[in-house]
Amino acid sequence: MNVLVLNAGSSSLKYQLINVETHEVLAKGICERVGSAEAFHKHGIDENEVVIDTPMPDHNAAMALVLEALTSGPTKAIDSLDDIDAVGHRVVQGGKYFDRSVLIDDDVVAKIDELAELAPLHNKAALMGIEACREQMPGKPMVAVFDTSFFQTIPPKAYMYPLPYELYEKHAIRKYGAHGTSHRYIAERAAAFMDEPLEDLKLITCHLGNGCSISAIDHGVAVDTSMGLTPLDGLMMGTRCGAIDPAIVPFIMEKENLTAAEVNDLMNKKSGLLGISGISNDLRSVRQASEEGDERAQLAYDMYSNSAKKYIGQYIAVMGGVDAIVLTAGVGENCDKMRRMIFAGLQPLGIKIDLEKNRAGLRGEREISTDDSEVRIVIIPTDEEYMIARDTYQLVKEGTLEITELV
Ligand code: AMP
Repeated sequence: MNVLVLNAGSSSLKYQLINVETHEVLAKGICERVGSAEAFHKHGIDENEVVIDTPMPDHNAAMALVLEALTSGPTKAIDSLDDIDAVGHRVVQGGKYFDRSVLIDDDVVAKIDELAELAPLHNKAALMGIEACREQMPGKPMVAVFDTSFFQTIPPKAYMYPLPYELYEKHAIRKYGAHGTSHRYIAERAAAFMDEPLEDLKLITCHLGNGCSISAIDHGVAVDTSMGLTPLDGLMMGTRCGAIDPAIVPFIMEKENLTAAEVNDLMNKKSGLLGISGISNDLRSVRQASEEGDERAQLAYDMYSNSAKKYIGQYIAVMGGVDAIVLTAGVGENCDKMRRMIFAGLQPLGIKIDLEKNRAGLRGEREISTDDSEVRIVIIPTDEEYMIARDTYQLVKEGTLEITELV
């Protein structure tokens, strides 16, 4: 079964065509700067990638280009749209309505629209993607997979903020989390890698990339996560500050004469690794500068690792222990030095990293803890697109989300 996985951003449309049974990616690409004069379309896998500068005034036009690239010309991957069996859409905010992926109907569309209040740019973009598919592939079964649904099991004591309760009642202000599809995937894969049932394990899953989040997964159930009402909360990230003293917000608004939108922009786009180092949001550049003696780059590096270490400690306390810590995303999968710093000094908690197994340059699912470490440290490359394709497959073909073996 071929599933077209779509991830629509406010000015982008990312896609992968996946054969779910074989786990093969048949085609992938991205339309960027949709709606601007600099719009372009990248299509293809690795060295076969082509970049086409082409006008696309909106997501509907981008969708038409994607479907054309999939079915014709040198980029052709399938004969016709009939070879797409279903479409899976990534949706950022599922609020309290969606604790799992669902088949899209008018009611689901209305709820995604209602939830746009909590994630304005993202949910509206997903709706544009859904509408474009409905227009160009009428009747094609579609599934919505939410970033937040995996975290709907988090108990009120962890998802509520200690603010006046009316704010929760009036505006649904609470923790929803994000990156849920990635955490769900790496938790399942880690259990399979360890050859243990997920239901028997206490896991801490760490998605460490440009965006960062850490979750506590107790016997297969998410019990806490670091991102909050929005993906700004929690860990220090590439350009996001993560958790800070909330009183800093009105303080800098007053001192720097900033509006709410400007301070929001500062915390989302100018903070984190970039804000501290003044060099880049990319950890590779920050690492290089720190190794050349740049003190602010070194500070940024230290702060990033310290931030991750603190969440790991918190979640060990929340679950009363941990069996394995799972790492993924650009930094988690690739950066030996950051991993070494995160786990440095955690031997008293039974966590021992093996420096040889941790060395740079290795790829794929692997373990980097020592043989005598009580807690296992496992790296699992994330694959959110495959997870979306698999949910779509299960809902469309089998009518249920009962977990089947991952390919
Ligand atoms: P992601 O958001 O998952 O794409 O991750 C992006 C982050 O991963 C960036 O900060 C990159 O610098 C970082 N990254 C990717 N590869 C490496 C590497 N080999 N060493 C250090 N950081 C890396």
